[in-house]
Amino acid sequence: MKKVKAPKKKPYKSVISNTLWSWGEMLRHAPAAFISEAILSVITIFTTIIGIYLPSVAVREASGGFTMSHAVISVGGLVLASQLLGIAGTFTGQFKYTVGMKYRNYISGRVDEKTASMYYELTERQRTRVLREQASRSTQMWYGAVPSVDLPNHALSLIKNIVLWFLCGGIVSLVSPWLIPVLTLAPAVNWLAGRIYQRWEYSIREEVETVSRRLGYITLLPGDFGAAKDIRIYGLAGWFRELYRDIKEQSVRYRNKRLAREFLVRAADLILILIRDGAAYALLIIMTARGEMTPDRFVLCFGAISSFAGFIGGIVSAFGGMRGTSLVICDLREYLDLPDRDGSGEARSEDVVSGPEIVFDNVCYRYEGADEDTIHGLTLTIKPCEKIALVGPNGAGKTTLVKLLCGLYQPTSGEIRINGHPVKDYRNSDYYRLFSPVFQDIKASVFTIAETVSGEWESATDLPRAEECIRKAGLKNKIDSLTLGIHTPLDKQVNENGVELSGGELQKLMLARAIYKDAPVLVLDEPTAALDPLAENEVYRNYSEMASGKTAVFISHRLASCRFCDRIIYLDGGMITESGSHGELMRLGGGYAKMFDMQSVWYREGVTEHDSEQKS
Ligand code: ADP
Repeated sequence: MKKVKAPKKKPYKSVISNTLWSWGEMLRHAPAAFISEAILSVITIFTTIIGIYLPSVAVREASGGFTMSHAVISVGGLVLASQLLGIAGTFTGQFKYTVGMKYRNYISGRVDEKTASMYYELTERQRTRVLREQASRSTQMWYGAVPSVDLPNHALSLIKNIVLWFLCGGIVSLVSPWLIPVLTLAPAVNWLAGRIYQRWEYSIREEVETVSRRLGYITLLPGDFGAAKDIRIYGLAGWFRELYRDIKEQSVRYRNKRLAREFLVRAADLILILIRDGAAYALLIIMTARGEMTPDRFVLCFGAISSFAGFIGGIVSAFGGMRGTSLVICDLREYLDLPDRDGSGEARSEDVVSGPEIVFDNVCYRYEGADEDTIHGLTLTIKPCEKIALVGPNGAGKTTLVKLLCGLYQPTSGEIRINGHPVKDYRNSDYYRLFSPVFQDIKASVFTIAETVSGEWESATDLPRAEECIRKAGLKNKIDSLTLGIHTPLDKQVNENGVELSGGELQKLMLARAIYKDAPVLVLDEPTAALDPLAENEVYRNYSEMASGKTAVFISHRLASCRFCDRIIYLDGGMITESGSHGELMRLGGGYAKMFDMQSVWYREGVTEHDSEQKS
C-alpha cells in the first residue's frame, strides 16, 4: 500500500517572533533572569579574549627582554582579571539558575491558568489536549533543556558568539583574511544537517506525543486503586503487559530513530571540523616556518583559530538551539492563544434574583467529530421556579442538555435564554454564578470539608451555613464522627489527618456544596445514584426545601423520585418525546410508563422473575 505523506506543518510563529516574545515575557516577569544571562555573556566575552591573549603575552614577556616586574604586572594582571571574572561568572551562573526557575514557574502558571479558565467545551477537544501537553513541555526538562528558559538564553548566546566571532576574526585576519570565509562557511553544512534533523523531529512530534501519552496512561493505571481492583479480579494483567510492551516498543522505535539521526549530524560536524581546522593550522605553521610570523604572534593566532572555530560552532549551536526550542514555544503560544469564547456582558447574573425562566429554542448540539447531532432541535420552556425531572434511557442526551444549560457547551444551532436573555449576553464567569450543579463525575480536592462546601478558604467560609448545608445533604452524622469535624481535610493520601469518603458520602458533600452556593438554578444529575435508600429518602424529603425559590432540573433513573417535580420531560434520542405529570405520562403509556412499570415491578409483592419477564 502506498504510504500517504502527512502535509508539512508550518511553525505557528517564526524563531525571531518567539525570541522577541520570550525576551519580552522574561523582562516583564523575571527581569533578573534576563539580566544575569546578559552579564554572564559579557563575562564570557572578556574571559575568552583574555584567554586568547594571555599565552601570547607570556611568550612575548619571556622572549622580548622585558623586566621581571613588567612580566609580573602584565601576565599577573591578566591572570588575576581572568580569575575574578571566573568567580563572578560562577556566582552569576548560580544566580541565573535560581531566577531562571522563577521564569519557568511563571510560564507553568500561565499554562495552568489557561487550562483552568478556558471555555469548558474547548478543554474536551482532542487538539486542545495535545496542545496542552506540548505547551507543558516548554517548562519541563527536555533532553537536558527547559525550552521556555533556553530560547531567550540561546538568543543571548548567539549575540555573544557573534561578538566573539568579530573580535577573533580581527586576529585571524592577521594570518590571512581568506581564512575568515573558509572557517565561517564550512559549518553551513552542519547547520543544514541540523535544520533537516529539527524539521524531521517537528514533523513527528505529534505521533511521539501520542505514544508517550499512551505510555504515561498505561503506566499510571495499575497504580490507580479503581483500575487495580479490576486488573486483579478480571485477570487483566497479561493483556495489560502486552499493551504496555506494544506501546513501549513504539516509544523505543522513535527514540532509536532520533538517536541514529543525531549521530549522523554529529559525525558530519566532526569530519568538517577536522578538515577546516587542519587546513588553517597547516597554513599557520608554514608561515611561521618561513619567518613571516613572530613566536608570540604564532601563539596568538593559533589560539584565535582554535577559538574561532568554537565561536562559529557556538553561533550554529545557539541558532540550532533557538530553532529547536522555538518549535516548543510555538506550541506554548498556540495553546495560550487558543481563542476563548466569552459573552458580551450585556446581561448580568445579579439581575436574576430567584428561579428564572429558561427557554431552549430549537437547540441542536453535535460533539466534535460526531457524524450526527446528539440534541436535535430541542424546544422547551421551563417556567420560573419550576421543578423539572429529566428522564430517559442511557445516551438520550440528558447530561449533554444539562451541560448546555450550565454554559459548558454552546449549542451548534438554536439558542438558550434565561429570563429572555440569550446565554451569549452573559460573561462566562458571571453565567456560571446562576447554577448550583451536582454532576455525576465527582472529583474531590484536597481541601477541608468546610472549604470544599464553600469553595473558599475556611477564613472566608460561613461555617454555620456550611454545617447547615451538610445537614440538609444528609452528611451530618459522618462529619460529627470525625475528630476534626468540618475541618477535616479530604484525601488521606495527601493529608495525614485526611478522610477518604465513600462514593455516596462524596455525592452528599457535592450536594452540600450546591446548597451552599445557593444559585437561582439547581441542577442535579443523578444526585442519589450512589446513595443507600435511607440517604436517598432523606435527599428527597429535603428536595423541596433545597429547591425552594429556584428553578430546578433533576435527572434521575429512579423514576419514583420524579413525583417531587412539577413536570417530567422524557428525552429519547436527543429529542423530547413526552412531557407532563407522572399521571399524564402513565396514561400516555409511552417510554416513561414502560420504564416506570419495569422499575416498579420488582417492588410489588409476590412478583417473581417469571412474572416480570411476562410483563416486559
Ligand atoms: P445521558 O446523560 O442521557 O445518558 P449523554 O448526554 O451523556 O446521555 O450522552 C448522549 C450521547 O452523546 C451519547 O451517545 C454519548 O456517547 C455522546 N457523548 C457524550 N459525551 C460525549 C463527548 N464528550 N464526546 C462525544 N460524544 C459524547
